[in-house]
Amino acid sequence: MKLVCPDCGEQKKLLYPADNLADRIFEGVYFDVDENGNVTQQPDDEAYLQQFNMPKFLQQARKDVAKGTELLCPTCEEYV
Ligand SMILES: [Zn+2]
Repeated sequence: MKLVCPDCGEQKKLLYPADNLADRIFEGVYFDVDENGNVTQQPDDEAYLQQFNMPKFLQQARKDVAKGTELLCPTCEEYV
């Protein structure tokens, strides 16, 4: 998949808003999405996220990404 923002151009990653999966526990949390559709949590969130079943949530996010869910640009934080 192409990681392009209409305003900012090519990006190294896009952001998946994790509150899609569970709006209360993941409020303000974003996962990184790479050009292969791989979804990973951000290192800064590790301490908070370790209490949750992240393999399950990351797999759900990956499925969402594969279905074409909307992602955000990490530069302008708008949907691309
Ligand atoms: Zn942008």
